[in-house]
Amino acid sequence: MFPSHGIIMPTVDYDRCQACRQCEAAQHCRFKAFVRIDGEEPPFIDVGRCGGCGECVPPCPYDALSAPKIPG
Ligand code: SF4
Ligand code: SF4
Repeated sequence: MFPSHGIIMPTVDYDRCQACRQCEAAQHCRFKAFVRIDGEEPPFIDVGRCGGCGECVPPCPYDALSAPKIPG
């Protein structure tokens, strides 16, 4: 069940994302919501998998994840 209050729905800022070989943000996602079609391309977040925990935001060294909070 997803949290109904204050859910964080992050998105990848493609102006900042460096398409790192190992995405630090993805490594911190326990829901495996980061998807990469091609290893050379930046990842995107599958909203159907995302649990809104926000744990992927701090690990990105390029500050490429924006995390707007949706009020519950
Ligand atoms: S760690 Fe950040 S900059 Fe690197 S691929 Fe992941 S989201 Fe992009
Ligand atoms: S908010 Fe949580 S579930 Fe969603 S992509 Fe980030 S770490 Fe994964």
